[in-house]
Amino acid sequence: SSEPSLTPNTDPYALAKALSGRHLIGGKLVPAKSGNSFEVIDPATGSVIGYGAEGDEQDVNEAVANAAAAQKEWGKMRARDRGALIHKCGEVLQDHVEELGRLIALETGKALRTESRVEASILADAFLFHAGLASELKGETVPHHPEMLTITVREPIGVVGAIIPWNVPLLLMALKIAPALVAGNTVVVKSAEEAPLTVLRVCQILASVLPAGCFNMLSGFGPECGAPLVAHPKVGKVTFTGSVETGKIVYKTAADKLIPVTLELGGKSPMIVMKDADIDKAIGGAVTGMRFTRQGQSCTAASRMFVHADVHDEFVAKLREKVDAMVMGDPLDEKTDIGTIISPEQFSKVKAYIDHGKGEEGAEAVECSAMPTDPKFKDGLFVRPVVFLGMTNDSKLAREEIFGPVTCVLKWTDEEEVLAAANDSDYGLAATVWTNNLKAALTFTEKLEAGFVQVNQNLVVQPGLSYGGIKQSGIGKEATLEAMLEHFTKKKTIIFNKT
Ligand code: NAD
Repeated sequence: SSEPSLTPNTDPYALAKALSGRHLIGGKLVPAKSGNSFEVIDPATGSVIGYGAEGDEQDVNEAVANAAAAQKEWGKMRARDRGALIHKCGEVLQDHVEELGRLIALETGKALRTESRVEASILADAFLFHAGLASELKGETVPHHPEMLTITVREPIGVVGAIIPWNVPLLLMALKIAPALVAGNTVVVKSAEEAPLTVLRVCQILASVLPAGCFNMLSGFGPECGAPLVAHPKVGKVTFTGSVETGKIVYKTAADKLIPVTLELGGKSPMIVMKDADIDKAIGGAVTGMRFTRQGQSCTAASRMFVHADVHDEFVAKLREKVDAMVMGDPLDEKTDIGTIISPEQFSKVKAYIDHGKGEEGAEAVECSAMPTDPKFKDGLFVRPVVFLGMTNDSKLAREEIFGPVTCVLKWTDEEEVLAAANDSDYGLAATVWTNNLKAALTFTEKLEAGFVQVNQNLVVQPGLSYGGIKQSGIGKEATLEAMLEHFTKKKTIIFNKT
């Protein structure tokens, strides 16, 4: 069938249908070579909204061949000319914010006003930000010997494989594609099987600006489509965001090829509230930090809230009041604050954690907000946000990443103990501290084991702020000039003998 028009289309149902069953290879929308496709579901109603092309090794080979061919020219362009094209991508994407926001809301169940439109706008911003880095692809002069001139240069790696999850696919793809392209690489991106259509639309828009083959997009499942991309001999770098389990598989395959990898994985981020904290501010931070608006499907979710015993009850009462006031329902409705869980699998997993918390762990479950009443959403994947009380940091609820609207509030009294508990986690992605005590803020920010630590605020990931975790949360950083240079270029040392 014909390609969907590039004119912004704010009817997400029509757009999902029109985009169905295609990859983007060599600048064109094409079906999977096998002819297979898979259903894409609207998680708010359970109905099928379209199909993703089911990619396999044959599609990977085709996409990588296109990327490798395009890289020869793209890598030779003046960096600022590449930057200008990436800037143009950002501008065109800005014209599509409403369209992309509506489509991603339909496809992932994230509410339009609180989540999806915001994400579409950050997507465009990430392209604009990275475009500005093009003139910074500089090397060094090294004064190591008076009779020699020694310099370093930054060269493109070649073809980059980018694998993304479904929770914030637009922002996460931008943080990979934009710097990789600016640095002179070409890209093959593999979308998540739960959310292939909006990513495909973004790629179709990019293809209207960039030379054919510079980036290619495949949809499909992990083992059949993601694994051959990582293993492909011409892929010289892999950048991955997803679960720890998959991250380790990707890392092992990349190790066999000895290629560099960036891994952005899971989290179980602590939020520490001191007794002197401004509680209303902390509540605001708890709601944003836990991403209740996204049903907690965030790698940085503040899923362990350590609250000082003196302010614990006040904190819980106010948190409950705030989350109760949030409207859960139709992701496309402007009145909605909270949308749905992504898929039936994720829904069952989250429900099982909640049942376990209430049952075996005997924690007190404070359930907030209310289920939507419209019968249209009777099969929707809605889960009422739960604040669990009275468990320990050793419990399953407090240790494992649930990736749902479930947080644990843990009471504390001793600073040393709470710091030790906050750090007693396999993960190290993000952390926040809420206090007006300067000394405590300095001590905690110094000692917390996390890649992203904030005091009295909870900003979400933004272009320009170095982002990435430690421990099981991953390897490498994203979103800055330093990250682009380190992760998307090769450094070469060149020595001229002057004598
Ligand atoms: P996932 O690991 O199941 O899937 C992520 C991607 O990997 C998908 O595109 C999937 O198809 C692909 N994949 C699966 N098996 C593969 C294989 N063998 N080889 C290559 N690719 C394969 O993760 P998910 O459930 O989609 O995403 C949720 C996870 O992502 C959570 O753990 C979350 O914390 C993490 N996440 C991390 C960040 C971050 O920046 N640190 C951001 C968002 C999400």
